Amino acid sequence: MKILVANLGSTSLKWRLFDFSNGAETLLHKGGFERVADYPKAIEDCLAALKDAGAIANESDLAAVGFKTVIAKGVTGCVRIDDRVLAAMEAFNGLAPAHNPPYLTGIRLFVRRVPGVPLVALFETAFYQFAPEPMMRYAVPPAWHDIGVRRWGFHGASHKFIAERSAQLLGRDDVARRAQSLYLDAGKSPVSAPDLRVISCHLGGSSSITGIRNGVAIGTSMGMSPQSGLPQNNRVGDLDAEALPYAVKTLGLTVAEAQRQLTQESGLKGLSGVSNDIRDITTAAEQGNAQARRALDVFVASARHWIGSYFFGMGGADAIVFTAGIGENRAEIRAAICANLDQLGIILDAEKNAATRSQEAVISAADSRVKVMVIPTNEELVVARETKRLLEAR
Ligand code: ADP
Repeated sequence: MKILVANLGSTSLKWRLFDFSNGAETLLHKGGFERVADYPKAIEDCLAALKDAGAIANESDLAAVGFKTVIAKGVTGCVRIDDRVLAAMEAFNGLAPAHNPPYLTGIRLFVRRVPGVPLVALFETAFYQFAPEPMMRYAVPPAWHDIGVRRWGFHGASHKFIAERSAQLLGRDDVARRAQSLYLDAGKSPVSAPDLRVISCHLGGSSSITGIRNGVAIGTSMGMSPQSGLPQNNRVGDLDAEALPYAVKTLGLTVAEAQRQLTQESGLKGLSGVSNDIRDITTAAEQGNAQARRALDVFVASARHWIGSYFFGMGGADAIVFTAGIGENRAEIRAAICANLDQLGIILDAEKNAATRSQEAVISAADSRVKVMVIPTNEELVVARETKRLLEAR
């Protein structure tokens, strides 16, 4: 069974083709185009690249195309795309202006180009649909809640990958199975005691931290939009609701300009004044740039804040997992986040931590009660797996 996963940006198309034959999960092909001006041509070129590489003979070899869609009104989980799903995505364009419109455009082009191939959406919000309501609700009037002003959560594919893989690595196949079956049986498949409590830290260009109990998310740092939680590369993260009207009035900005500054001139970029990339910021900090140092410190403090939140929310943790660009590659950030937590049973092995880049590893000390791990994430594989599960369940 060959499943194409298409990642649609406003000016980019990236893809991976997976083959699930004979119980294996094989990445057959990956590629992409940046600065796409002609999207129909980009899709054509993608299909041509798959054929040239011998990965498919023709379009009918594709069992499905899966998309890592973000958010839709009244629809989540992993679903077959039809007009109802597209309309639900369109209804929430305002909540995800950078993501939903390009996905709608791209998906409609795929509908036309490969009409016989099932198209499947795995929403980034899906992983949070079973989180307890108090963790997902803002204290707003009901009318606000009813139009979608609530926590939704994002990075769901990545955190779900961590939920499954961490459970496997921790010897809890029962929990891994529950996480795998989440969207088909609503997380009802049985697990044995004791609870497995994992705190998943996706730290990258954008970052979020999720508490996961027995394979099911209990809450996450990103709220109504991906504009919240930890400081992001150039987006602000959490911000007091009064800050926007105050800055608009005091600095004489339009709301649109204030939003632009909060989404493009803030986060690590705004704080450091150097770059939105941790590599450049770290270099500057090492050369004595105080703003760059502060950007790193704010990022670390925010990560600790959210880890602490889920540590309390779950009554402790069995594992803390680091993933994504920063989590997988930046030992000094991991060390700063885990510093001085021995009272909570969190102790890093400095050498193992320093030696770990982009590979699965336990980086905590032998006497650390909480295991600290690095697990490279694989969001596209999650989309492909869920797409396969959906097709097989039908
Ligand atoms: P995105 O969220 O855009 O996919 P990534 O997960 O790649 O981004 O994370 C980007 C961040 O991770 C940057 O701050 C970058 O410095 C850091 N990063 C990514 N890859 C590496 C690497 N190989 N070595 C060091 N830092 C890295």
